[in-house]
Amino acid sequence: MIKEIKFQNVSKEYEQEIAVSSFSLSIFENEFVVIVGPSGSGKSSLLKMLHGSEKVSEGLIFFDDQVINNVPTVDRDVEIVFQHYAIDYDVSVEKNIIKSLKKKKLPKNIVKEKVLELARILEIEELLKSDPKQLSGGEKQRVALARALVCEPSLLLLDEPLSNLDSSMRFKVRLLLKKIHRKYKNTIIYVTHDQKEALTLGDKIVVLKDGVIQQVGTPKELYYNPSNIFVASFIGNPLANIIEGKIVKEKTNHYFKFGNEMILIPAEIVQKEKIDECINKEIVIAIRPNAIAITKEKTGSVVGKVLSKEQIGQENYIHIKVKGVKEYIRIQVESLVGFIENEEINILFNFEEAKLFLKS
Ligand code: ADP
Ligand code: MG
Repeated sequence: MIKEIKFQNVSKEYEQEIAVSSFSLSIFENEFVVIVGPSGSGKSSLLKMLHGSEKVSEGLIFFDDQVINNVPTVDRDVEIVFQHYAIDYDVSVEKNIIKSLKKKKLPKNIVKEKVLELARILEIEELLKSDPKQLSGGEKQRVALARALVCEPSLLLLDEPLSNLDSSMRFKVRLLLKKIHRKYKNTIIYVTHDQKEALTLGDKIVVLKDGVIQQVGTPKELYYNPSNIFVASFIGNPLANIIEGKIVKEKTNHYFKFGNEMILIPAEIVQKEKIDECINKEIVIAIRPNAIAITKEKTGSVVGKVLSKEQIGQENYIHIKVKGVKEYIRIQVESLVGFIENEEINILFNFEEAKLFLKS
């Protein structure tokens, strides 16, 4: 088993394009790490360098004390599963799974046992004799997973493996992956562009943008303590409102000025967030729709016009427009009843749950 996988200032450059920039991270045995970022942020390049199918341009990758930059894939104890189903269509499901075990030259009964056990866990036992052409997407991807897992790799790399599946199958395979992880104790690195998936799967999440790490943390840390504007705007359900404005001080009070409106920042927040250092500076506030309240109180609150209403399952939102502010503000409400389009309402921010960032 590999105890530690370490990236040390790893960069990947294709002709003109820098895909990964000075990436440093340690991943430990039995961790389930999710790398999340928009399309083109360098996720696949990272996995390919770990797998050995792309060369590292700069920096070092260690498996324990060994630099593996030039070690061929077959000697790395790594398997990879992609979004597209990498299976052979000219042999049965069972033969597909056994195929990758051939190099290990194990006795026949052991091979059978391993295949059966995995097929049971992945719920494809009934399909072992089937022709892969007849399988659904979810079944094909489980065969591909079995094929990768049967070799019991120390490191399993999953590159958006659920992207082609419908949502109920995605849910099912996610649970199966968790089960596999508990049972086989491999280290898993899972790549996705879907932040919701990242939050449900990972113990440790790495947020990537333009090939650069933005933050590494638990789902909770990313949700409650995003380290920059990108993370605040990219992670979490519901996503935060990102509101640009300025800190102004009048007498002893501090206000957040945005558009034509000003909102008082409570004294304890001024102290906690070091607001005094931001006076007259452009800032950005990230505030989730459930941290904005509607009030009857005119003093201290902000006026906005109801633009539209939105219902997602059990959750209700209204979108409001504040004069002089480009983006609408999304507010979570108990019920949509009583909100009338174009009507003015007053809102308050719960600054306890807001995050302030200086605009860079
Ligand atoms: P992701 O998996 O996050 O979508 P990739 O690692 O595939 O990101 O790509 C990162 C960047 O590198 C993108 O801008 C992409 O166009 C570029 N890139 C990826 N693979 C190649 C390649 N083989 N040749 C040239 N550019 C590439
Ligand atoms: Mg990719």
